[in-house]
Amino acid sequence: MLHRRMPKSGDELSILGFGCMRLAQKEGRIDEERATRQVRLAIDRGVNYVDTAWPYHGGESEPFLGRALADGYRERVKLATKLPSWLVKTADDLDRFLDAQLRKLNTSRIDYYLLHSLSGTSWDKLVSLGVEDFLDRAKAAGKIVNAGFSYHGTLPEFKRIVDAYPWEFCQIQFNFLDIEHQAGEAGLQYAAAKGLGVVVMQPLRGGTLGQASPPPSIGALWSEAATPRTPAEWALRWVWNHPEVIVALSGMNEESQVEENLAIADQAQANSLTEAELALIARVRKQYREIMKVGCTGCGYCDPCPKGVGIAGCFDIYNQLYMYGNPAAKFFYVVRLGGFISGQRGYASQCEQCGDCVMKCPQNLEIPALLEKVAAEFEGEGLQEREAMAKGFLGVA
Ligand code: SF4
Ligand code: SF4
Repeated sequence: MLHRRMPKSGDELSILGFGCMRLAQKEGRIDEERATRQVRLAIDRGVNYVDTAWPYHGGESEPFLGRALADGYRERVKLATKLPSWLVKTADDLDRFLDAQLRKLNTSRIDYYLLHSLSGTSWDKLVSLGVEDFLDRAKAAGKIVNAGFSYHGTLPEFKRIVDAYPWEFCQIQFNFLDIEHQAGEAGLQYAAAKGLGVVVMQPLRGGTLGQASPPPSIGALWSEAATPRTPAEWALRWVWNHPEVIVALSGMNEESQVEENLAIADQAQANSLTEAELALIARVRKQYREIMKVGCTGCGYCDPCPKGVGIAGCFDIYNQLYMYGNPAAKFFYVVRLGGFISGQRGYASQCEQCGDCVMKCPQNLEIPALLEKVAAEFEGEGLQEREAMAKGFLGVA
């Protein structure tokens, strides 16, 4: 297992982190025995960073991990979890959630504590509730060791949040497709230059870049490589090729996945991909963009929409549905845009066709017309049921 050093804490972390959002399941619940075996196998083979969050598995991921890390495993890892920022309504909630998480995880300290899924709006709300003082106090009390945040918004707001507090680390979505999406490559460089350790989530874009059977035109490109690798290996190696990435999280729930990721993490040195390999990955990226339904790069220049439409998020999920036929996309549309996390609903149907965004879009997209298609796809029958499921998933009353 290769390791990289967190810039501020000096912790030597395994480049592969175990993400506990998609644990092995049986009959709709965590398969405790199998998932425990997988987590402990990964730790036995060198993984020393384990990540969870309040809402994962309907609130069951944290207590599961508390049990899975018994028998001495807790002290062998750095444990990360996240404050459910969208559930925080008062200053007292900040301490209440942290104390509950320490109990659920059966631990006296959280090594890496993140404010979950920040946006500019939710950061401002938390600041008004005294979150900076809360983090300082929690550190002084030894309840948390390192403070960070996870992020899915635009680059300008990301930079604002990076500069707003002396964070030790942050967590961003980063993969070879999303280099200009959300924080993206520029955000990675910015955070690293400011001394933050960067943890990467979605290195396989929720598993889709790692599918053993990618879209045929993508598979044809991969088969041109001089060194044959699986799509998952290409995607992970690309992420770890960036020296600024300290840890990449993978949500593992199959033994074969754990083994494959462990094997790659033994070898994936920074700056180890050749020019020819990087050029091939760039061609794969270009091909993915060609088969996307909407050519949105997620740059965020169209923000803010006066009606609150989450334009880039709408197109991102629309593309996922068409590129991968991902049946969960309709559910994630509601999770991401239903306003349960950000406090602001961003559905495509909120568009009133004012046209403000069209002038700002460097891709010259016909945004209002495309949003109509998104709304027709995602907001028809079953929307209310999906909203109820999303609330359950996120633990929103
Ligand atoms: S056209 Fe629609 S999406 Fe664009 S800014 Fe106006 S209301 Fe928002
Ligand atoms: S719609 Fe255009 S401006 Fe908005 S995020 Fe996508 S590419 Fe950027």
